Amino acid sequence: MPIFCGIFIVYTNNADSPELATLGVRAGYDRTGEGEHSEAIFATSSFVFSNAAEAADRFQNNAPGNVYSRFTNPTVRTFEKRLAAMEGGDACVATASGMAAIMATCAALLEAGDHVLASGDLFGSTTQFFRKYLTRMGNTVDFAAIDDVADWQRKILPQTRMLFVETPSNPLTRLADISALAELASRNGAMLVVDNCFCTPALQQPLALGAHLVIHSATKFLDGQGRCVGGAVVGDSERIADVFAFLRAAGPCMSPFNAWVFLKGLETLELRMQRHCESAAALAEWLQAQPRVSKVFYPGLDSHPQNSLCRLQQSAAGGVVSFELAGGREAAWQLIDAVQMISITANLGDAKSTITHPATTTHGRLTDEQREQAGISEGLVRIAVGLESLVDIQRDLITGLG
Ligand SMILES: *Cc1c(COP(=O)(O)O)cnc(C)c1O
Repeated sequence: MPIFCGIFIVYTNNADSPELATLGVRAGYDRTGEGEHSEAIFATSSFVFSNAAEAADRFQNNAPGNVYSRFTNPTVRTFEKRLAAMEGGDACVATASGMAAIMATCAALLEAGDHVLASGDLFGSTTQFFRKYLTRMGNTVDFAAIDDVADWQRKILPQTRMLFVETPSNPLTRLADISALAELASRNGAMLVVDNCFCTPALQQPLALGAHLVIHSATKFLDGQGRCVGGAVVGDSERIADVFAFLRAAGPCMSPFNAWVFLKGLETLELRMQRHCESAAALAEWLQAQPRVSKVFYPGLDSHPQNSLCRLQQSAAGGVVSFELAGGREAAWQLIDAVQMISITANLGDAKSTITHPATTTHGRLTDEQREQAGISEGLVRIAVGLESLVDIQRDLITGLG
């Protein structure tokens, strides 16, 4: 049931909340008087008031209602309510991009002097934002090994306010133990923030595992068809109110059109994730049997060192598979240049499968030593498995693997 709380809506989940697939299709929408079946797009920057007193009340948060689309737009609000319901959070704030979600969360919830402890395996721009800009805002940042809770324990400081992870990691699919890190954060007066971009709520619900906030790049699987850039933060109403206040003041908001596209994406999320995961799992098994492939990284494989953790905290192992070719960079580039259908791009979470060589693209700016430390070898190839038939994906790869 939606509850009015200040200017944004809190969406409370209860025990008999509908299933995820249903929430993706139905949650969060209040049909207008026109009786439309598909959600309307409110392409308007501002809203009108019936009199001066109403305008004053709305501006001062004394009455519910829309004011201006930087912080109140019905289409954006529908997306926020739907995603909050799917993640099992009280509330959500939609942002202009995934990076805007991370920036808004840090700017709203950290004070100068606070310490952030982040996973060493993070999206490149997130690492860059932490290293270059968070430090400039007076915060200190350290990095811990994603799969080693003891390392986090050692590095946590009295002034640590935020632990930040992305799990599974890109491209080596290492997992963070969300429950263990959430407990560590809570015990130390910090919050655990999980970037749930790779799994989406269809596979993993970090809040249910104890995490305090969930971040999304809606650009990836939530859209699912590579059309729009957007992001979101989901969590408890108190923290989200702070992030919302920052968004109102600073402005990195989501456009109503993009919110509508993401709503359509959420409708098919559960169905698409099933197919991404089924194909990726089968492709990982198939790759293991290829003579020129020396190693496959996929948390759904029995050979993955964290396969049991994956079974515990994810309902399926995800759509991204990485593998090493024995022939190093030459073999990796040869494979990439041989594909006819799979797109050569570093994007992921698209209906179209993509293939990339991390060592010279996403991780190309690292020194050789940093790359070696991160485990990104010259023979490593990453595939984000799309929605094409698996048969055609395999057929496309076989020439380059032969
Ligand atoms: C893409 C991505 C981001 C950044 O999202 P944008 O929408 O591109 O700003 C953050 N985290 C992860 C894991 C990503 O893949």
